[in-house]
Amino acid sequence: MITRFAPSPTGRLHLGHAYSAVLGRRHGERWLLRIEDLDPGRARPEFVGGIIEDLAWLGLEPDGEPLVQSRRTHLYAEALETLKKRGLVYPCFCTRADIAASLSAPHGDAGSAYPGTCRGRPDDPARRASTPHSWRLHSAKALDEVGGVPGWRELGGEAFEGSATMIGDAILARKDAPSSYHLSCVVDDWESGVTLVVRGADLRPSTPVQRLLQILLGAPEPVYLHHALVTHEDGRRLAKRDAAPTLAAMRAAGVDGPALAWELATGQLPTGYRLAGD
Ligand code: GLU
Repeated sequence: MITRFAPSPTGRLHLGHAYSAVLGRRHGERWLLRIEDLDPGRARPEFVGGIIEDLAWLGLEPDGEPLVQSRRTHLYAEALETLKKRGLVYPCFCTRADIAASLSAPHGDAGSAYPGTCRGRPDDPARRASTPHSWRLHSAKALDEVGGVPGWRELGGEAFEGSATMIGDAILARKDAPSSYHLSCVVDDWESGVTLVVRGADLRPSTPVQRLLQILLGAPEPVYLHHALVTHEDGRRLAKRDAAPTLAAMRAAGVDGPALAWELATGQLPTGYRLAGD
C-alpha cells in the first residue's frame, strides 16, 4: 500500500492530524507527505517547517521528499485542459464569496449549492480574457459520461455508494488558485501512485466527486480509509478556537512523541480526548 498524509499548512498540527498521520504510516509500505498549499488566503509557508518538525517528533519520517502542490500547478493545468477539451468544465463568473466557499472548504458537499448560473452559457472568450473567472465541473455531463454517481471501497471491503447530492458543479480552478482541492488531490494521488487514501471522516463527502474526476481522467481507483475524528471528551471537534492541543504545545509540555504515536496507533487517546463515535 502507498498512503499519504496531506495537511494544509494553515496552522500547527494538532492531535487529530497526528492520528491521521499515524494511521497512514501504519498502513503504508510507503507513506508520502504532501503539502496542500494552494489556497492563497490560508496557506502560509512558515507552517511547512512546523509540519515536518512535528512529524519527526512523533517519529514519523515520510518516504521521499515532501510533495508541495504550489510547485506542481502545471500538472493540474494539464488535467484541467483535458477536461476543457472534452467540454466537461465551463467558465463561471459568479462572485468571489461563492467561489471561496467551495475552494477553501474541502469539508462538505462538493459544490452542490451552486445554482448553475453560468452553466450552458455560450462561451465568450472576450469576457474570459477580461474578467476573472473560475472553471466548474459540468457534473450532469460528467455523470452522463461515466454512467452515474461512482461509489468507492473502504479498507476492509465495505462498499459505499455516492449520492447525486454529493456531486455538484464543483470548482476545479480559479484565477488566484490554479487548482481546487478536488482536482489537485486526484492528480497527485494518481501521480504519486497512492493506493490507499487515509483521511478524516469529515472528508468523506469529497470522495464521490474525486472518484468522478478519477474516472474522467483515467486514474486508477484507490481504496479509502475515512477514519473517525479525534474530539474533546465532550464531543467538541478539535479546532483552534477550542484550544486544540497542538503537537508543538505537547512537545513543549514534555510529552514523548514516539510514545504518543504508538498509543494513537493502538487507538488510545490522551486523557481528555476520544474518537468520535466511541
Ligand atoms: N488538505 C486536506 C486537509 O488538511 C486533506 C486532504 C486529503 O487528505 O484528501 O483537510
